[in-house]
Amino acid sequence: MNQSLIFPSAATMEWQRPIYRDPTTLRPELVCPHCKRKTVERRCLIDDHPVITHHCSEHRDVIPMRSIIVREDFAGVAA
Ligand SMILES: [Zn+2]
Repeated sequence: MNQSLIFPSAATMEWQRPIYRDPTTLRPELVCPHCKRKTVERRCLIDDHPVITHHCSEHRDVIPMRSIIVREDFAGVAA
C-alpha cells in the first residue's frame, strides 16, 4: 500500500485543517432578530417595575434573540 495514504505529508495536513471557528470560543450574544447586530440594552422603571428593553440602531425597539452569528458592521442610521 502506498505509505502517503496512511501518513499524509505536513503540507496535506495543513490543507485539511478546518477553517470553522473553535466551538469553545463561540459565545451567544443578544442580537436583533432582523439584522443580527448586537442590541443596546436599556433599563428603566415603569410603575416602579424594572423593565429592560433592547434597541437596534436600524430596527429600533426589538425583542432580541441569542445568536452566535453577530454582524459587526453598523447600520449607518442615526438612532
Ligand atoms: Zn436590527
